[in-house]
Amino acid sequence: MADKSQTLIKKKERKDKEAAELTKDVKEMKNEREKTGNDGEVSSAAAGVNNGAVANSQDGDFQVEPVEIPPFEIITGDRIDPLVFKFQFKNVEYSSGRNKTFLCYLVDKGNTVDGLLRGYLEDEHTGPHAEEAFYTQCLPHYDPAIKYTVTWYVSSSPCSACAAKIAEMLKARKNLKLSIFAARLFEWEEAEVQAGLRALHASGCKLRVMKPLDFTYTWDTFVENEEQPLNLWEDCKENYEYYHEKLANILQ
Ligand SMILES: [Zn+2]
Repeated sequence: MADKSQTLIKKKERKDKEAAELTKDVKEMKNEREKTGNDGEVSSAAAGVNNGAVANSQDGDFQVEPVEIPPFEIITGDRIDPLVFKFQFKNVEYSSGRNKTFLCYLVDKGNTVDGLLRGYLEDEHTGPHAEEAFYTQCLPHYDPAIKYTVTWYVSSSPCSACAAKIAEMLKARKNLKLSIFAARLFEWEEAEVQAGLRALHASGCKLRVMKPLDFTYTWDTFVENEEQPLNLWEDCKENYEYYHEKLANILQ
């Protein structure tokens, strides 16, 4: 019994930390928008930040209000809004309030007419996830005669259901090589999430946590960066090392 209440307290503490982090990040994003004068239409991705309806009050408290869940939608695109990227890909430790997965992809089909595909997908966690949408939307026609080299840069690692689906798919499609680079590990403390990551690893998927250099590369390749370099956040390397160690322990 004592264990159970300990777990509950831990979960509550984590939730509080997550909400505080999220509030801080939303504030930072708003400030940055004001600074850059980019107060135009808030993109759907930025709006997604408010899905948990985190509201700041005067004294810095936060409240989470119940909101209606919007109809499920997968958004596809060429390049991500820079502020949205900085928010969604930030490799913070407490981040479940982000409510979304962003998946940037590169598909190399060798010497074919449409040899190289590039783009991104974003989901709401209320319907099929970005990982699944990738196969239905980006690779609907699979040709067993072609060798596919697929690389994903995802804002967080797959949930257990997606990990299982991807592992199955990789077993069935022997000529498709997949590498996944994740900014954060999604609910890595959960046993079933860990099992999913191990199954993915066992199916031949290359699984890594994004290094500082990977954030720079993703920024250069998938973001409307207007030729501006990415200024990495202060604790980027430290957070990478944190997640890298967690993943190594899970996969060993
Ligand atoms: Zn998923």
